[in-house]
Amino acid sequence: MSGYFHSDLNLITFEQVGEYEYPTTDFPNKPQVFFIGCRRCGGSGHHDFDGSSSVCYLCGDSWDARLGREIGDRAAAEKHFASRSRALALRLAKKEAERQAYLAERDVAWEALKEAEPEVFNLLHEAATADQWSSGSRFIDSICGQLWSLGERPYSQKQIDAVKQIMEAKKVAEAEAEAHPVVEGRQEISGEILSAKLKETDFGMALKIVVKDARGFRVYGTMQRQIADALCVDDGDDGWLEGAKGREVKFTATVKVSDDDKAFGFFSRPVKGEVIR
Ligand SMILES: [Zn+2]
Repeated sequence: MSGYFHSDLNLITFEQVGEYEYPTTDFPNKPQVFFIGCRRCGGSGHHDFDGSSSVCYLCGDSWDARLGREIGDRAAAEKHFASRSRALALRLAKKEAERQAYLAERDVAWEALKEAEPEVFNLLHEAATADQWSSGSRFIDSICGQLWSLGERPYSQKQIDAVKQIMEAKKVAEAEAEAHPVVEGRQEISGEILSAKLKETDFGMALKIVVKDARGFRVYGTMQRQIADALCVDDGDDGWLEGAKGREVKFTATVKVSDDDKAFGFFSRPVKGEVIR
């Protein structure tokens, strides 16, 4: 952006450091007076060049305030802005050097973690770099961002151990799922109710249960009517739902495996329900 020339007064302000233009004055005999310009808007009085409603909050677009301090003649103005440009360049160079040092320090920390705990590093790195990724663990999601500032803030041994524990539990769960995959299709389900909940659906309130089948997989669906009738104690509260937990039931239903867990399925159209124990 360029500077502002107020030809009626033969004044100049500056939009930005180092960028200014000289007046093409119609009054060659008057001395040119240079001003530093409002330090927020550079003298335009506005945030945007073409924004008529965007009045600068610092100078309020008032004449005196937007001119800022007087510098003097052209030579003084050039000197002033040259020195400001140099100072700005120095500041930028210093900032860049600091950033490089910061990155180098982080690279060292990354290499160290990679060396000591490759699996932990890979997991956290995957979590930290993916656009849309959830590790399935709130803890890992919460600490993966720390990877970016690892040079300053290394992981504690406690954090590393917790990640390892989560990885271990995941492996066990995967092995478990591998060993007890859901059987699909119409079949008899028989096993323990792991949880029971009242859930609002498009068709009103429904009783949803998770049952662990004797074959080792878990299925989720609507509690079969006879089972609900048998378990329900009409004492005016929902306490019986808690009581349903741990009971053994069987029913016939159609089972479909979940997309992301081999050992978890969804059942539908349950019939012939029975409470075993
Ligand atoms: Zn301003």
